[in-house]
Amino acid sequence: MARHYACLCFDFDAMSLWIARDMTTPTPISRGEFGVIGTDRILRLLAKYKIRATWFTPGHTLETYPEISRRIHEEGHEIAAHGYTHEPPATVSAEQEEAILVRANEAIRKVTGAPAKGYRSPSWDLSPHTVDLLVKHGFLYDSSMMGDDYTPYWARTGDVIRAGAPAKLGPRTSLVELCPSWSWDDFPVFEYLRMPTYLQQGLRRAGDVLDNWVDDFTYMQGILDWGVIPYTFHPQVSGRGHHM
Ligand SMILES: [Zn+2]
Repeated sequence: MARHYACLCFDFDAMSLWIARDMTTPTPISRGEFGVIGTDRILRLLAKYKIRATWFTPGHTLETYPEISRRIHEEGHEIAAHGYTHEPPATVSAEQEEAILVRANEAIRKVTGAPAKGYRSPSWDLSPHTVDLLVKHGFLYDSSMMGDDYTPYWARTGDVIRAGAPAKLGPRTSLVELCPSWSWDDFPVFEYLRMPTYLQQGLRRAGDVLDNWVDDFTYMQGILDWGVIPYTFHPQVSGRGHHM
């Protein structure tokens, strides 16, 4: 029997996404706050269709908005780890990375009563230590790497990657990788973002993006007996009326 899954993932970054980019003046912070409005709308929509989803939620969001965070859990959704203040692991030391992971997990435990099973790195940039740390702290899956599209695989540890020599691939671990993709993410296609060194245009027509996403699903159904697409949404992006 063919089994094909669309997994709805919500990265409930709220203001942490802007703080991590050093954009802490009132307007960017308010863009993050809109994530709470978006989350309320999305929770109602998921309840209407009886769909359960995964919410990758930074500790900063959980502790800033405890009420709606509890609601996510109480309405039957999974809360998974996503940093404390949206720190990309590749930008911190191994010690800092572990401290952030522990703190983020503690914030999740306060809401759900249990540590997280899943992890997604902020900005999708793992450090060389992340996989080992996730295994050490009991995580079952990660959703940050893009080595496949529809088929989950076992994450490796200890790869040696150097210019001028073939890559040495390390052994696989017990951590399952559920591959996201920038092409299945609402943020680059919809969010207008002006930074000192680049402009993210965003603002694409929602129906066009949906067409792309459905085409990916149709292709998966045609070539594989089973597979999964983890589509990524940010409530502060997809909570807008034309997306809803
Ligand atoms: Zn995020």
